Amino acid sequence: MRGYKELPIGAGGAWFSYAFGGGGGTVVSTWSWRSFRPVIDKEKCTECGLCELFCPDHAIVRTKEGYVVDYEYCKGCGICAHECRLKAIEMVKETFLEEF
Ligand code: SF4
Ligand code: SF4
Repeated sequence: MRGYKELPIGAGGAWFSYAFGGGGGTVVSTWSWRSFRPVIDKEKCTECGLCELFCPDHAIVRTKEGYVVDYEYCKGCGICAHECRLKAIEMVKETFLEEF
Protein backbone atom coordinates (compact mmCIF):
# COMPACT_ATOMS: atom_id res chain seq x y z
CA MET A 1 0.00 0.00 0.00
CA ARG A 2 1.31 3.41 -0.91
CA GLY A 3 1.58 6.37 1.45
CA TYR A 4 0.29 9.90 1.21
CA LYS A 5 3.68 11.18 0.03
CA GLU A 6 3.18 9.35 -3.22
CA LEU A 7 -0.05 11.14 -4.03
CA PRO A 8 0.13 13.47 -7.03
CA ILE A 9 0.78 17.08 -6.04
CA GLY A 10 -2.15 19.40 -6.69
CA ALA A 11 -4.48 16.56 -7.34
CA GLY A 12 -7.58 18.51 -6.50
CA GLY A 13 -7.78 17.00 -3.05
CA ALA A 14 -9.28 13.71 -4.13
CA TRP A 15 -6.98 11.76 -1.87
CA PHE A 16 -9.84 10.08 -0.03
CA SER A 17 -10.87 8.23 -3.13
CA TYR A 18 -7.28 7.47 -3.94
CA ALA A 19 -6.43 6.18 -0.49
CA PHE A 20 -9.45 3.90 -0.29
CA GLY A 21 -9.00 2.31 -3.65
CA GLY A 22 -11.39 4.40 -5.70
CA GLY A 23 -8.73 5.50 -8.12
CA GLY A 24 -6.05 2.85 -8.00
CA GLY A 25 -3.50 5.57 -8.57
CA THR A 26 -5.76 7.73 -10.71
CA VAL A 27 -7.34 10.77 -9.08
CA VAL A 28 -11.12 10.60 -9.26
CA SER A 29 -13.81 13.07 -8.39
CA THR A 30 -15.54 13.05 -5.01
CA TRP A 31 -18.78 14.82 -5.88
CA SER A 32 -20.87 11.64 -5.81
CA TRP A 33 -20.57 11.52 -2.02
CA ARG A 34 -22.28 14.85 -1.67
CA SER A 35 -25.81 15.32 -0.29
CA PHE A 36 -25.44 19.10 0.16
CA ARG A 37 -23.53 21.57 -1.98
CA PRO A 38 -22.05 24.89 -0.91
CA VAL A 39 -23.28 27.94 -2.78
CA ILE A 40 -21.32 31.19 -2.43
CA ASP A 41 -23.28 34.42 -2.27
CA LYS A 42 -21.08 36.84 -4.22
CA GLU A 43 -22.93 39.82 -2.73
CA LYS A 44 -21.85 38.85 0.79
CA CYS A 45 -18.41 37.46 -0.05
CA THR A 46 -15.48 39.79 0.65
CA GLU A 47 -12.95 37.34 -0.81
CA CYS A 48 -11.17 36.88 2.50
CA GLY A 49 -10.04 33.41 1.46
CA LEU A 50 -10.93 31.56 4.68
CA CYS A 51 -13.08 29.03 2.89
CA GLU A 52 -10.27 28.24 0.48
CA LEU A 53 -7.89 27.83 3.41
CA PHE A 54 -10.13 25.45 5.34
CA CYS A 55 -11.50 23.31 2.53
CA PRO A 56 -9.92 19.87 2.99
CA ASP A 57 -10.36 19.03 -0.66
CA HIS A 58 -9.04 22.26 -2.16
CA ALA A 59 -12.37 22.53 -3.88
CA ILE A 60 -12.66 26.30 -3.53
CA VAL A 61 -10.70 28.24 -6.09
CA ARG A 62 -10.02 31.93 -6.51
CA THR A 63 -10.77 33.20 -10.00
CA LYS A 64 -10.99 36.63 -11.61
CA GLU A 65 -14.72 36.53 -10.84
CA GLY A 66 -14.15 35.70 -7.18
CA TYR A 67 -14.23 32.43 -5.28
CA VAL A 68 -15.93 29.48 -6.91
CA VAL A 69 -16.55 25.90 -5.84
CA ASP A 70 -15.13 23.08 -7.92
CA TYR A 71 -18.10 20.76 -7.64
CA GLU A 72 -16.15 17.92 -9.18
CA TYR A 73 -14.13 17.60 -5.99
CA CYS A 74 -16.37 19.16 -3.33
CA LYS A 75 -17.72 16.38 -1.11
CA GLY A 76 -20.20 18.62 0.68
CA CYS A 77 -18.70 18.50 4.15
CA GLY A 78 -19.81 22.06 4.95
CA ILE A 79 -16.57 23.18 6.58
CA CYS A 80 -16.37 26.18 4.26
CA ALA A 81 -19.86 27.34 5.25
CA HIS A 82 -19.04 26.85 8.92
CA GLU A 83 -15.82 28.87 8.69
CA CYS A 84 -17.17 31.75 6.62
CA ARG A 85 -17.51 34.62 9.09
CA LEU A 86 -19.99 36.45 6.88
CA LYS A 87 -22.28 33.47 6.32
CA ALA A 88 -21.78 33.91 2.61
CA ILE A 89 -21.91 30.17 1.94
CA GLU A 90 -25.16 28.26 2.09
CA MET A 91 -25.33 24.48 2.04
CA VAL A 92 -28.08 23.54 -0.38
CA LYS A 93 -29.57 20.06 -0.63
CA GLU A 94 -28.68 18.30 -3.86
CA THR A 95 -31.62 18.18 -6.20
CA PHE A 96 -31.56 14.42 -6.62
CA LEU A 97 -32.29 14.17 -2.86
CA GLU A 98 -35.32 16.42 -2.86
CA GLU A 99 -37.72 13.49 -3.07
CA PHE A 100 -36.32 12.00 0.16
S1 SF4 B 1 -14.92 32.63 3.71
FE1 SF4 B 1 -16.83 33.63 3.04
S2 SF4 B 1 -16.30 35.78 2.75
FE2 SF4 B 1 -14.36 34.64 2.80
S3 SF4 B 1 -13.91 34.16 0.66
FE3 SF4 B 1 -15.06 32.42 1.47
S4 SF4 B 1 -17.22 32.85 0.96
FE4 SF4 B 1 -16.06 34.78 0.76
S1 SF4 C 1 -18.31 21.64 1.37
FE1 SF4 C 1 -16.84 23.32 1.29
S2 SF4 C 1 -15.15 22.65 2.60
FE2 SF4 C 1 -16.32 20.83 2.11
S3 SF4 C 1 -15.35 19.97 0.29
FE3 SF4 C 1 -16.99 21.31 -0.44
S4 SF4 C 1 -16.01 23.27 -0.82
FE4 SF4 C 1 -14.63 22.10 0.48
